[in-house]
Order: sequence, then structure tokens, then C-alpha cells
Amino acid sequence: MIKFLDLQEINRPYYEAMERISSEVIRSGWYILGERVREFENKFAKFCGVDYCIGVGNGLDALSLILKAMDFEKGSEILVPANTYIATVLAITEAGYRPILIEPDSATFNIDSTLMEHQITSRTKAILVVHLYGRCCDMEAINGIAKKHGLKVIEDCAQAHGAMTLGKRVGNLSDAAAFSFYPGKNLGAFGDAGAVTTSDQALAQRVSILRNYGSEIKYHNLIKGVNSRLDEFQAALLSHKLDFLDQENAKREQLAEYYLTHIKNAKVELPERSNRGANVWHLFVVRVKDRAGFIEYMKESGIETMIHYPIPIHNQEAYKELAHLKLPITEKIHQEVVSLPMGGHLSIDDLSYIVSKINSY
Ligand SMILES: *Cc1c(COP(=O)(O)O)cnc(C)c1O
Repeated sequence: MIKFLDLQEINRPYYEAMERISSEVIRSGWYILGERVREFENKFAKFCGVDYCIGVGNGLDALSLILKAMDFEKGSEILVPANTYIATVLAITEAGYRPILIEPDSATFNIDSTLMEHQITSRTKAILVVHLYGRCCDMEAINGIAKKHGLKVIEDCAQAHGAMTLGKRVGNLSDAAAFSFYPGKNLGAFGDAGAVTTSDQALAQRVSILRNYGSEIKYHNLIKGVNSRLDEFQAALLSHKLDFLDQENAKREQLAEYYLTHIKNAKVELPERSNRGANVWHLFVVRVKDRAGFIEYMKESGIETMIHYPIPIHNQEAYKELAHLKLPITEKIHQEVVSLPMGGHLSIDDLSYIVSKINSY
């Protein structure tokens, strides 16, 4: 069986370092928001090219803390892609704002910047973009529109750690960005973890206060905050793994290139190539009309696949208020996408087998 994702294999090269670091943390007697968190924050800010990084509990909190820190009026409208993981939209409603779902470009799966302007009203305050599957959005167009209309831009970088466009890393292409270090992400922790990156000092300070009960000095609460802190274990383990992120992303690119060059089957539509580094291939997503048949065939061939994502947000039980929306591009994407195995657990031999099966489908 070729697994879709195998965290044991992916983390195997790190076992010794992780065990040593964990033991150091245990013996240090300090477990939350300490020296190791500060060290990781500085290192990750430098990696992204921003002035500040604030470690938080997870990716959803990173998004909602940015939105809360921006402190728009309740009911403000936030433009967001209609096809994303539900966390992106949950963060908007959690902060008390209204998500305005925008159709994606069917070639890149990312928000279609040409469809944004006519959705902007006097209540629109920000554009929240997602570098979906690891591919950078068209940030030049998006930042241009935002500037013209006086909007903030926020990046959801949960799937795109290390990706580069316009000579910058994601996380440094907007007013503020959110990262998730959920174990299966390109930079994965050993539990939940997340971070906010920004070069806006006031915003950084507000997020940093919000994540810790709204206080800077213990028991002095300036605002109504939450508890979403990064712990010393995750921070120290992430600091170590960060040194290998570019290398791991390069391996993903090599695997993606293999799929792109060798899959030849008219029934399987491949993703577009992009500039070097502008896609870190968190997922390798193809489109197949008879998706159920394809998945069954792959399973019989001993290959695990996944669907990202099976149900669009506006058709989810949790978002009944969005059920009236007609988003044909998003709906079609959700019916056809299949994610092939991708990640450091795979060898070219594995891919050669997967490709041979796909080509004879
Ligand atoms: C994983 C993910 C999140 C949420 O991250 P968590 O750490 O699981 O809260 C947000 N947005 C996108 C696009 C994601 O893939």
C-alpha cells in the first residue's frame, strides 16, 4: 500500500534530534512562551523576511487573531476564496465578520482576482487569500486592488510554507499572514501549532497580547483575549525542522515534476506548472470526471488518495446562511479533484508505480 501521507516516515530523519530537544525542554522547567518560542519566532520571521512572528496555538487561531486584531466593525465584509479549507472562513465568522465568497480560477485553484472588484462594497475591509495546495496567489493583482480600495490583505499560508513569488516568501506579501504547523503541513509540528507573521508593529503587538488572555503583564488585562499560546516543545522542534524546509520543498517539487512529466492519460487533468518555488506542492491535485471510479481503481492498485475538499463551504451544514450562493466553478472543482500521494515519504520508485497505474487507467 502506498500511503497518501506517512508521518512516521516523514519524521524518521528527525527522531534523534526531536528526542534530544524534547528531553531538554522537559528538564528546562519552562513549557509555554519561553526562550524557545522567542527563538523560533525570530527564526521564522527572518525566514519569511518579516519583522515579527507571533507563535500561536494553531492555524485557525492565527487567522482569527489577525482578524480580531485588525478590529473592524462587526459585520464588516471580508473577501475570501470559495474553495478553501473551512478554517479560512471559520476565522472570519469567529471574528464577527461576513465572508464574501469569490470563485477561484480553475487553472490555479486560487482566488480569481478579476472577480473581486465588483464584490467590493462600503463594508468591505479586507481580502483574505489562500495559497491553496502550496501555490502562490497572484499577489501583484490582489495587492493592487486592495490598495486602490483601501483594503487590508491577509494571507492564509497554512499550505505554502516557504513558497516564493515576486522575490518574496509567502507570509511577507500582505499586511499579515497566518501559518499552521499541523503535523501534515509542509512544516509540521508534533501536535497543534501556528504563527502569525507581519511587519506591522502595532498589529504584531495586538496579536501577541490577544493570544495570551489580552495581557502583556501578567494579571493586567488590556483587551478581551484568548488562550492560544505556542509551547516550548513545538517551538524547539519546529526551529530544528525549519532548517530543512527548503530541502523538503525541493523534494516535493521533484516529485511533482515527475508526475507532470510522466502522467499521460486524457482522463486525468494535471495541475499547471508555475515558476520555480512559487508552488511548494503541499498537495498534488488532479481532476478526474469519474472521480469515484478513479479512486476505487487506485485503491485496488494499492494507492491511497484523498479529496481536498469533498464539500464546498457554502454547501456545508454549518454555513446554511451561504446555501443560496451559486458558485459553479467551486462546485465543479469539488466534484472532480483528487489528491495523489505527495511528500517526503515517497521515492521515485513509488511514483513510477503510481504513474504506471494512472497511465493504464
Ligand atoms: C490546515 C489549514 C488551516 C488550519 O490550520 P490548523 O492548524 O489545523 O488550525 C487553515 N487554512 C488552511 C488553508 C489549511 O490548510
